[in-house]
Amino acid sequence: MEKEKYDIKYISELQEYWNDYNYALINEIYVGVAINLGMDPKDAYNLAKVNPNQLQKSFFKNTFNKFKNVFNHKVKKFRYDRPIFKGDGTPLTLNQWERFNKYISDFWTTHANPVAEDMTIKAHELGKQTTRFRQEKKDYDKMSLEHINEKQYKGDMPSGLIQAYSEYDFDNAEKKALNNQYSNVAMYVNQTDSTIQDAIRQQIITGIDNNKSPVEVASDLFWNVEKNENFVNKYTAQAMRRDWNRISSTEMASIYEAGILAPYESQAMESIKDPTKAQYFVFTGGSCQWCQAHQGSLTRLVPMDVVTSTANDSLKSMGIKDEHTDTALWIGKNNVGYKENKSVQEWRVTTPAHVHNVATMQPIDLDKEYYNDKTDKVERKLKKDKFIPTQVDYSQKSKEEKEWREPTNIGGGLVRKDGNIYEAVDSSIYNKKMDEWRENPSLPIPVNSANKNDMLIFKDAK
Ligand SMILES: [Zn+2]
Repeated sequence: MEKEKYDIKYISELQEYWNDYNYALINEIYVGVAINLGMDPKDAYNLAKVNPNQLQKSFFKNTFNKFKNVFNHKVKKFRYDRPIFKGDGTPLTLNQWERFNKYISDFWTTHANPVAEDMTIKAHELGKQTTRFRQEKKDYDKMSLEHINEKQYKGDMPSGLIQAYSEYDFDNAEKKALNNQYSNVAMYVNQTDSTIQDAIRQQIITGIDNNKSPVEVASDLFWNVEKNENFVNKYTAQAMRRDWNRISSTEMASIYEAGILAPYESQAMESIKDPTKAQYFVFTGGSCQWCQAHQGSLTRLVPMDVVTSTANDSLKSMGIKDEHTDTALWIGKNNVGYKENKSVQEWRVTTPAHVHNVATMQPIDLDKEYYNDKTDKVERKLKKDKFIPTQVDYSQKSKEEKEWREPTNIGGGLVRKDGNIYEAVDSSIYNKKMDEWRENPSLPIPVNSANKNDMLIFKDAK
């Protein structure tokens, strides 16, 4: 998925900080491991900075300087005091690994958790600020994070949930949304913790198996430079950073969007009884093909309580008849687990709609405003012409489509099921195929031929 860029400065800066902070954190862990393996500290830091393929420099030092008035999170040195690679080729014992993993875990969580909480509350606050700026018809897209910190928060923008709750008013719906977002983020921080532990352990074990020297193992940790192949090893520092970047940008977008919607939640609740209070939002922004095709789609905000199934976003299904749209929007609506490719179109209209998405929901007053598809903005109506919203077709799946979703042999050893294409592969190349597929999801999904259960789709295929 292509990376999209925010055109609102303050939110793009928040994203920049979070990304670079964790970039620095992951670097520090990998550098500490490389030093432990015997690499000269200077060499280890250089290797972490410079991709031998692309000669990209890291910019996190500049980032920390740039935002020094807004954030003061530090990155300590990661220095484990016992050897994690024995020269004689004997692996560490289970207890020794556990002790090392705990060291990683403590380092990661004491750094990553406070930053994640800070990002959660700031992204939420920025969403609310955006709503205010829009209501006041302010020009806000060029405002910096530092400017907002100074002007709106007297230089003390909240950095924790408890601080925010004690200093500012949050209604229950807003607190609920914010707490949900924070527990999602905390889960991802935890997941990344175990991924890093796993990655370093795999790298070291592979190094021992291949009789590599500790310094060779150390250099493999950072970048994987396979010959003539666009194939990135999932255990390198580079891969960890890329994974975290994907997670943090998507999570931040979703917190920010929840912050935009939260102030309208109580009105959405009232609109269930009094339809004249209905609050509509238009999907705007994003630069990929999907986003461009969906810009201008109209949705109506509903309170989270009326959403009985998050898989169904039809207003009718919730007992709400609306002449303008049938697409419901609620805080936290997302497309996690929904596929979108040539043969399956499942993404629903929400923000973020996909990984690295920067599309945003703009409130619209259908009496006074209209969506201008030339500017991709909500603007005031000049004449009293009626706004005709773009409808999204979520009609029930037809009989033909149901048949099409059954396992079907499509030749060349490939089977299509539910719109996905599967290929049976020998277990010796399964991991490699999986990595290739993760890099390029338009390839057939590999199925390990040693796994009898998974292979059933090939048996069932017509
Ligand atoms: Zn997009």
